[in-house]
Amino acid sequence: MNPKQFLDNLTKIHPGEAEFHQAVGEVIESIEEVYNQNPQFESVNLLDRIVEPDRIIMFRVPWQDDEGKVHVNRGYRIEFNSALGPYKGGLRFHPEVSLGTFKFLGFEQIFKNALTGLPMGGGKGGSDFDPKGKTDNEVMRFCQSFMTELHKHIGPETDVPAGDIGVGGREIGFLFGQYGRLANRFEGVLTGKGLSWGGSWIRKEATGYGLVYITQNFLQEHGSDMSGKRIAMSGAGNVAIYAAEKVMQLGGTVLSMSDSNGCIIDEDGIDLDLVKEIKEVNRGRIKEYLEKHPKAKYSENRDDVWKVKCDIALPNATQNELNLESAKMLVANGCQVVAEGANMPVTPDAVHYLLKNKVGMIPGKAANAGGVAVSGLEMSQNAMKLQWTPKEVDERLHQIMFNIHESCLKYGKRPDGYVDYVKGANVAGFLKVAEAMIDQGLV
Ligand code: NDP
Repeated sequence: MNPKQFLDNLTKIHPGEAEFHQAVGEVIESIEEVYNQNPQFESVNLLDRIVEPDRIIMFRVPWQDDEGKVHVNRGYRIEFNSALGPYKGGLRFHPEVSLGTFKFLGFEQIFKNALTGLPMGGGKGGSDFDPKGKTDNEVMRFCQSFMTELHKHIGPETDVPAGDIGVGGREIGFLFGQYGRLANRFEGVLTGKGLSWGGSWIRKEATGYGLVYITQNFLQEHGSDMSGKRIAMSGAGNVAIYAAEKVMQLGGTVLSMSDSNGCIIDEDGIDLDLVKEIKEVNRGRIKEYLEKHPKAKYSENRDDVWKVKCDIALPNATQNELNLESAKMLVANGCQVVAEGANMPVTPDAVHYLLKNKVGMIPGKAANAGGVAVSGLEMSQNAMKLQWTPKEVDERLHQIMFNIHESCLKYGKRPDGYVDYVKGANVAGFLKVAEAMIDQGLV
């Protein structure tokens, strides 16, 4: 396999899907060596098969706003790979998504889910609907229309969606309600559900907590811990808020957060209760932070979060948000580790720069796998019709993140001792899926 040739061909077959090409490019660059050393992969044309989704479902989502005006959005579900279990992956509602976005996210999800060690295949979906500025009733009507089509394709043993950007507890509730009405079954068809109707403890916190647990594993490997560390982060959504919460519980200080309009920098440490009130309760803008903390700084340049002097950087917002210039700033400021809370937030040139400068670079597949891991645990609890305690779930999450870290060490350690987590995560995830695909024949 020649990565360049392979990517050129992929781009020709699937034009206009830049994010998907980028995600595939990162994986094949990492697995080139192991792929070429094992001719059984090429003999069944595994690479061409693994980049082709099992199926893509695309549909019209008509809905009415509060004034009675009719709108139409596009709905997507990519059922990418089911070699390890039912398709599993979130739904994203954001105006800037396209087919290529969902293919990149679905492709990444295959390997992330493999890394958790739980029986889950990879999928992803969502819509170009923008929940921002919509009333609860409008969001409900949209979710009901979206599920009216999606319910034909999903099920607890087939495909189990969850939340992602723009899809939180409110949306999962509306989607689950409509599924129950159409299917006439109460079953674990979505994860991220409310605690009183099939949800798991720690699911809401899982991605952020897991991100901090694996960062802690990295620090322990370097004889250190979170206590006293300075953390720069982006985002102010589900992942960012609970990553910040865990950092603070472990004695670190979070100095920056952002939303799509701008960022705040608070050298006294971010007031997380206030951020929760602004973002979770009031669905407001991060700029409002200044009303209670006038000494904090606000900037419309979201990249300013990376200009803070920090030990750890956690990009938790969206894809390609941390570029080469920001990576240079982090290295110059002595940052030791960048762990991706979001999916593919660090651009490829920035990843290469961080690796070259021997900064720990933990890719999203490994670093943010805690969310889907607890989703997998939610599926197990639903199947057994019971609910584990918060302590039980948190212990399992801890163990899963530790195992993922070990896999990265196993496949990513270089002779000089430096660990290439990007390679480690990609090789570990790929081998697991590839072996399952070979065992299951030409499907
Ligand atoms: P949310 O919708 O809860 O939050 C996203 C946050 O990022 C919002 O605060 C949003 O701002 C902000 N944001 C969006 N674009 C930008 C930008 N360009 N610059 C700065 N901030 C921005 O989503 P999640 O927290 O759930 O997801 C964040 C990332 O984590 C995504 O990449 C997602 O795929 C990934 N992820 C999420 C998991 C989960 O369990 N939720 C699991 C694994 C990965 P605003 O409020 O203005 O919209």
